[in-house]
Amino acid sequence: MQTEATTSRHDGPADSSRRSAPRVETADASLSVDVKLVPSPRGCPPGKLGFGRVFTDHIFQMDWGGEGGQKWHAPRIVPWSQLSLEPSAAVLHYAQSIFEGLKAFRGADGKLRTFRPERHAARFYRSAERICMPPVPPEQFIAAVDKLVRIEEAWVPTAPGASLYIRPTMIATEGFLGVRPAQAYTFFVIVGPVDAYYAEGFGPVRIWVEQTQVRAAPGGLGEAKTGANYAASLQAAEFAKKKGYAQVLWLDAVERRYVEEVGTMNFFVRIGDEVITPPLEGTILPGVTRESIIALLRERGVTMTERRITIDEIRAAHAAGTLREVFGTGTAAVVSPVGALGFADGDLQIGDGQPGEFARLLHDEIVAIQRLETPDRFGWTHDVP
Ligand SMILES: *Cc1c(COP(=O)(O)O)cnc(C)c1O
Repeated sequence: MQTEATTSRHDGPADSSRRSAPRVETADASLSVDVKLVPSPRGCPPGKLGFGRVFTDHIFQMDWGGEGGQKWHAPRIVPWSQLSLEPSAAVLHYAQSIFEGLKAFRGADGKLRTFRPERHAARFYRSAERICMPPVPPEQFIAAVDKLVRIEEAWVPTAPGASLYIRPTMIATEGFLGVRPAQAYTFFVIVGPVDAYYAEGFGPVRIWVEQTQVRAAPGGLGEAKTGANYAASLQAAEFAKKKGYAQVLWLDAVERRYVEEVGTMNFFVRIGDEVITPPLEGTILPGVTRESIIALLRERGVTMTERRITIDEIRAAHAAGTLREVFGTGTAAVVSPVGALGFADGDLQIGDGQPGEFARLLHDEIVAIQRLETPDRFGWTHDVP
């Protein structure tokens, strides 16, 4: 079936993405995608969507290795179906698996946009390199996302804060149990509508300060967005939930003093007039939201410092009455305020237990830029062609 997507011109990423994306050896930035649509598209169901439960009718997929050769080939958008894998597929045994998470929005003007896709494409490239997978050229990553989002545009929710969540993923598909980088991969993109994260209010969460397990060690996978990092984080989060906390605060693996991340989000703390976030030194995931928040705070003239900070400094600030806010940042929730930090000797309440001033303001500002309700002076939004 011919669709607009198979014949439409791809404009390629904006200039800003060319600057920030890694160099790739591909002359052809466009992606000639084979499109096979379902006979009757379903469209977004009414009612609650939640997060990560509802998916659309189609999937983007392309392959590397096998009969098509050692290059990305056979880009296609096809009806949603199960993946077929050899039980010996490398991803199932040795966890060669990476992913991204970004969102598409219907703007206040009715236009479809994604948020900073070139930063996600660049990070996906680096994640692939870190675990010896063939990187997807950033232009192809963006073209794949654009084409799938355009085909599924009827699924993009219009309610403020709601969005189409986009999950690009790469897995090793070669059926071989030897320990070496696999020789066959699949890159796929799935998308699904999600509700505004704070449909039931912008409530602060309690966070357990994890003293036993660690998320990432220096030299490890911490800065790559791998499935393996998430597997490593599950047990501590489960223990925390049993104790009544929403997530854990991760400390560094070496000295168990420096704060690194909060759950699967980047960490920010406001002490007195300074906002602090830990620097990207290998164990922390370089969040796109983190980068955006830093830019927004600096634009406001706030003292925004990237430096290491110990949990003791945070306790001392609490004792001195200067600990004003703590929040996490990430694509799914944008900003998540922290109301209390839990220790073996009890909770340390942050501020008055209500969401902090900056947490709310930054959340609202980013959501407004995403829908272009406020000017996008940083060039963060990308028009989906
Ligand atoms: C994805 C992720 C984040 C947030 O990154 P964003 O680009 O802001 O969504 C933070 N920490 C971890 C561990 C992550 O996997």
